[in-house]
Amino acid sequence: TYVIIQDELVHRQDATISFDDRGYYFGDGIYEVIPVYNGRPFALNEHFQRFLESAQKIDMPLAAPVDKIKSLACSLIEQNNLDNGYVYIQMTRGVAERNHLYERDLTSFLTGFTKEMTFPRDKHNGISLYATEDIRWLRCDIKTLNLLGNIMAKRKAADHNCEEALQHRGDVVTEGSSSNIFMVKNKNIYTHPANNFILNGITRQVVISLAGDLKYNVIEEAFSLDDIEQADEVFITSTSAEVTPVSKIQGTIESSYLVGPVAKTLQEAFYRTTNL
Ligand code: PLP
Repeated sequence: TYVIIQDELVHRQDATISFDDRGYYFGDGIYEVIPVYNGRPFALNEHFQRFLESAQKIDMPLAAPVDKIKSLACSLIEQNNLDNGYVYIQMTRGVAERNHLYERDLTSFLTGFTKEMTFPRDKHNGISLYATEDIRWLRCDIKTLNLLGNIMAKRKAADHNCEEALQHRGDVVTEGSSSNIFMVKNKNIYTHPANNFILNGITRQVVISLAGDLKYNVIEEAFSLDDIEQADEVFITSTSAEVTPVSKIQGTIESSYLVGPVAKTLQEAFYRTTNL
């Protein structure tokens, strides 16, 4: 198995990472998870556009030109013979003696690996979400390594036998711990707008575009816990969950849903675009 270290592929057992990497001290870094279907990366350009934007938002230079990083990711898929799964790309601000103040002359440090995965496509029963306060910072639009709020929400959900969290800021539903949340009411599709309170999921963007093609009305507006309690359908989207219906919400609110026609239609449409 190969991994990416800076600008080359190396055997995994030969890969080393510095003790003083700022990613390790401060979570000072960003990442992307790009799905791979039948050996081909899906929405590669969109993922690298977001990667670039995340880097810019935290004033971090790229370890290499974006096209070089893209081609490293593609070579990794090939060298590892990855059929279905994902490629993970991470970039930290680099290596320096521990100091909150970062210098601008550091060399960003790039790593990457692939992971085999089967995308479960028999999602006929919905999953359950655990509704819990969103305790994260105010720049959730950046795909940073700092995921404490997210992982704590995920653990809490699992401790209540739920597959995913539903985070809310006060009354406003934001997103999952690693997914975006959609609801359907009177055939209209609602999801939180892409601002600083959520990560603008690539799957979210693809699903919004597919929904438009299918003549659904997609409303990117914040909605409340009350709204989602009254919704006809709820589903989540993410690279690994694709489009997954929700049958139950527990925690701050309690409600249940049937797996409905809109989620099913979008699920099918999404599957078709991935060509798996
Ligand atoms: N929101 C958060 C907080 C995430 O971590 C993720 C993905 O991991 C998503 C949404 C979904 O993004 P994508 O569809 O690009 O996987």
